[in-house]
Amino acid sequence: MNAEIISVGTELLLGNTVNTDTTIIARELSRLGINLLFTGTVGDNPARLDFTIRQALSRSDLVITTGGLGPTGDDLTKETIAKAAGKKLVFHEESFRRIQEHLAGREMAESEKKQAYLPEGCTVLKNNVGTAPGCAFETDAGKLVMMFPGPPSELIPMLRDYGAPYLLKRENAAIVSKNIHVFGLGESRVAELIADLTEGSNPTAATYAKECEMFVRVTARAATEQEAEALCQPLADKITARLGDVVYSTQADSLEELVVRELSARGLKLATAESCTGGLLAKRITDIPGSSDVFEMGAVTYANRIKTMVLDVPEDMLERHGAVSEEVARAMAEGIRRKAGSDLGIGITGIAGPGGGTPEKPVGLVYIALSDGKETYVRRMSGTGRPRSREYQRTAASSNALDMVRRWLEGKPVLP
Ligand code: ATP
Repeated sequence: MNAEIISVGTELLLGNTVNTDTTIIARELSRLGINLLFTGTVGDNPARLDFTIRQALSRSDLVITTGGLGPTGDDLTKETIAKAAGKKLVFHEESFRRIQEHLAGREMAESEKKQAYLPEGCTVLKNNVGTAPGCAFETDAGKLVMMFPGPPSELIPMLRDYGAPYLLKRENAAIVSKNIHVFGLGESRVAELIADLTEGSNPTAATYAKECEMFVRVTARAATEQEAEALCQPLADKITARLGDVVYSTQADSLEELVVRELSARGLKLATAESCTGGLLAKRITDIPGSSDVFEMGAVTYANRIKTMVLDVPEDMLERHGAVSEEVARAMAEGIRRKAGSDLGIGITGIAGPGGGTPEKPVGLVYIALSDGKETYVRRMSGTGRPRSREYQRTAASSNALDMVRRWLEGKPVLP
């Protein structure tokens, strides 16, 4: 089945809204094994929308639209598509009731009622977050049309809970995917290492870049979930074994999620002292529900004076080695661990850039230290001289810190 996505909304053409809906749907189609051949954007203009829809219906088996399902005058997607596909819009009692419930007693405006009119014979895709339902139907020419609301907060659950199952049912298939998360090896190197394992068509294995890390997704398609799982697992195991200890998880979706879970399982506590990451590490950890069980404190210590005052970093050490040095990172990790009374302490100091580096200490040079009370491990991220954004440097430094913790927790070499 070949698919096409059309995003409807003048705000997208003006650049006021970033078209994340297309990306969300594209990823889901790829997961479902459906080929996406075209994507497009059109404003809230009936004539141009009509033209775009007819063109899409003439060349694609599945046409998915986002936006323009709401109550306002410029929300015309449903009306225009129904006309192009020769379908009448009919009143849908259940959707009407849901909209009424959603408005929680507020009188429904005439314009809001139009959201309960849907193409005759369609499958309604429930909106559990907002008012406008989505829908799916087949045209007389055998083309499949699916319409989703524009707000991503409404699209995501609707696609996951009703859209994807609808497509799988039609295709008589179940899909199972496993993500193998990797930190410490680049996407192209991983692709090389597992090249012979990515050639199959079912299960498939593909590499994806993620901020400062990557993952391999193994996807299998079969008539039932159990069969798909049975196809998927052996390949996922083979890839995991081939890549070795750079694989940090096939369960958790992020390093921070894994670290919080594993610290919590072992009843261990962590404290952080950050300089160049400005609290990003503490933020990433505390983004995870349950982090209060494992995270004691985070200090953002920029000025040398504060490093000494809060973390007991000796003044003469700062003078002799400079704030960005292995010695200071070490002292920060040990200092915060002592102050917090935690099992582990992390210290990060570096030059996030873009300016400020020297030939000896270039932009991107970061020292990350992990202290467990007996030993202090230090990892050095060397400045490559390649211009990287401040944000990238900070993310990479905080990811390296998390990777050190997870290696320590797993009893693997922490790696410099
Ligand atoms: P509503 O019921 O909220 O009116 P709708 O289906 O009518 O939903 P639109 O009115 O087209 O959706 O868009 C509502 C909002 O959804 C937009 O202002 C924008 O913030 C967001 N949105 C719309 N399309 C997209 C898109 N392609 N990507 C990301 N966000 C979008």
